[in-house]
Amino acid sequence: MPEFANEPLLELRRADERARCREALAALTPRLPLSVPVIVAGDRRHGADLVSPDPSHPARKVALACRASASDVDSAVSAATAAQRAWGAIPVGARAAILRAAAAELAARRYELAALEVAECAKPWPEAAADVAEAIDFCRYYAHRAEVEAAGPELLSPPGERNRQFRRPRGVCAVIAPWNFPIAIACGMTAAALVTGNAVCLKPAEQSPGCALAIFDAFAAAGLPPGVLNLLPGEGETGAALVVHPGVSTVAFTGSAAVGLEIMAAAARPAPGQRHLTRVVAELGGKNAMIVDADADLDDVVPAALTSAFGFAGQKCSATARLLVHERVAATLKVRLIGALATLAVGPAEAFGTDVPAVIEADAQARIAAVVAAAAGEAHSGGPLPDDDGYYVPPTLVFDPPAGSHVTCEEIFGPVLSVETVPSLAAACDRVDEQPQALTGAVFTRSPDTVAYVSARTPVGNLYVNRPSTGAIVGRQPFGGNRLSGTGSKAGGPDYLAHFSDPVVVCEDLTRHGIPA
Ligand code: NAD
Repeated sequence: MPEFANEPLLELRRADERARCREALAALTPRLPLSVPVIVAGDRRHGADLVSPDPSHPARKVALACRASASDVDSAVSAATAAQRAWGAIPVGARAAILRAAAAELAARRYELAALEVAECAKPWPEAAADVAEAIDFCRYYAHRAEVEAAGPELLSPPGERNRQFRRPRGVCAVIAPWNFPIAIACGMTAAALVTGNAVCLKPAEQSPGCALAIFDAFAAAGLPPGVLNLLPGEGETGAALVVHPGVSTVAFTGSAAVGLEIMAAAARPAPGQRHLTRVVAELGGKNAMIVDADADLDDVVPAALTSAFGFAGQKCSATARLLVHERVAATLKVRLIGALATLAVGPAEAFGTDVPAVIEADAQARIAAVVAAAAGEAHSGGPLPDDDGYYVPPTLVFDPPAGSHVTCEEIFGPVLSVETVPSLAAACDRVDEQPQALTGAVFTRSPDTVAYVSARTPVGNLYVNRPSTGAIVGRQPFGGNRLSGTGSKAGGPDYLAHFSDPVVVCEDLTRHGIPA
C-alpha cells in the first residue's frame, strides 16, 4: 500500500516556474471559451446557457456551460444508481488505484489547471497552484485512507462468536461545490464518495464549470466507468433538485451557511418512495477571528493578518475577518497595519505581483462595496485599483466598528477586515464565543499558557497559533467548522470517509452442536 505524502507546491520564487505558468496561460487562452457539457453515463450534451467570465477581464469568456435540466438530474441519478452496484462491489484497492491515476492526471496538467483557475476564478498563481496540489492530495490521501480502513475495526469476539464490522457504500452521492477552491473542494468531495464505493452526480458552482470539467476528465482518463461520475453544470435549482431526489442518499455540500441550512432542511423530508435518510455532509462559511495578545510579535502579526484577510481578496472560508487586538498594542498595530495596507498591489490574478485580485463577479463587487460604504467605524482602504472593468474591491480595514454591526457579525467574503480593540484575552475569547460561526481562528502570543487558554475556550474547528488562519493541508490539518460553520466533518482527515458509507456489524454464532469452535 503506497504511503501518503503531500504533493510539493510549485516554487514560484523561481523564474523558470513562473515562465511555465505564463506559458500555460498563453496556451490556454486561445482554447477559451471551454465548452462544458452535461455528462450523463458518458454521454455529453453541449450548450451555452451559462457564461463563466474572467473576473479580471470580464469580456473574456472562460467557459460556456450547458445547464442541466430537471430531466438531466433524473437521468444522472438513474445512471449513477445503475453504475453504483458494480462500482461498489469491486475491491477497494481497485477504486483507490483509480483515484491515484486521477491524481496523476491532475499532476500532469498542473500548470494548465492552475492557469484555468487564474482565468476562471481570478485565483492568483500561488493559491491556484496550491488548489491543484490539494486536489491531488485529496485523491491520494483518500485512496490511502480507504485501504487503511478496509479491514474494519477490531471487535471483541468471545469464544463461540465472531464479530466483524465493515462499511457499505451509501449509494448515490450528490456533490454540490463552491467556486472558491474550484478544483480542490469539488475533487475532494468527489474522490471521497467514489473511493467508498458510491456513484456521484457532481453539481459544480455556476462560476467555475470549466474547472469542474477538468475534474471529470481526470477521473475519466483514470478509467472510471461511465455513469459512476456524472457532471451536472447548473445554478442553485440544479443542486436543489438533486437534494430532494429520492435516489440520492448523501449530499456532500460546501458553500454558504444560508444554502447549507436550506439543503439540510430539504434533505430532512424524505421524498415519496424514499427508503433512506439523506445524509448531509456540510462545510459552511465562517467569520474568523485572529486574536493578538499583548505579548504578540507584531512583526509576525502584520503580514499574517494581511495575508489571511486579503489573500484571494478575502474569498476563502478560512479568511480572517476580525482582528481582536489587546488594547496595550492596539495603537502600535493600527499604525503598522495602515502602513502595510498601502503596500498591497490590487491587480489581475495573472500578474505575479498581485496581492489582492478581482472578486468573483459583479454582484459580489457591488455587495462588498455597499458593506464598506455602510460600515460605521474608521475605514482605511488600499489601492489604487486598476483602471479597467475587472471586478476589483480595495482591501479595507475598519477600525472599531460598533459591536453587532454587519462588519463584525456577517461573513462578507471579500477583502474587509474588522480591527477591534479588546481589554483582555478573555474579552477576545468572549467575542469569538458569541459568534454562531466557528470555522477557523488564530492567536498570536509568546505564552504557552495563552495558547492553552485559547485552545480550551475556542469553539472553532481549526485554530492556528502564530501563523495565518488560512492554508489547511491535507493529512496535516483536517479542515472543517463547528456550530453554523458545518457538520464537523473534517475534510482531509482520518474521519472523513466514514460520512460516505454505512457501518454493518455481522455477528456469527460459531458454536456447532453445543461445541465452541
Ligand atoms: P453558495 O452557497 O452560494 O453555493 C455553493 C453551491 O451551492 C453552488 O454550487 C450553488 O450553485 C449551489 N446552490 C445554491 N443554492 C442552492 C440550493 N438552494 N440547493 C442546492 N444547491 C444550491 O456558495 P459559494 O458562493 O459558491 O461559495 C462561497 C461560500 O462557501 C462561502 O460562504 C464560504 O465560506 C463557503 N465555503 C466553505 C468552505 C468550508 O470548507 N467550510 C470552503 C469553501 C467555501
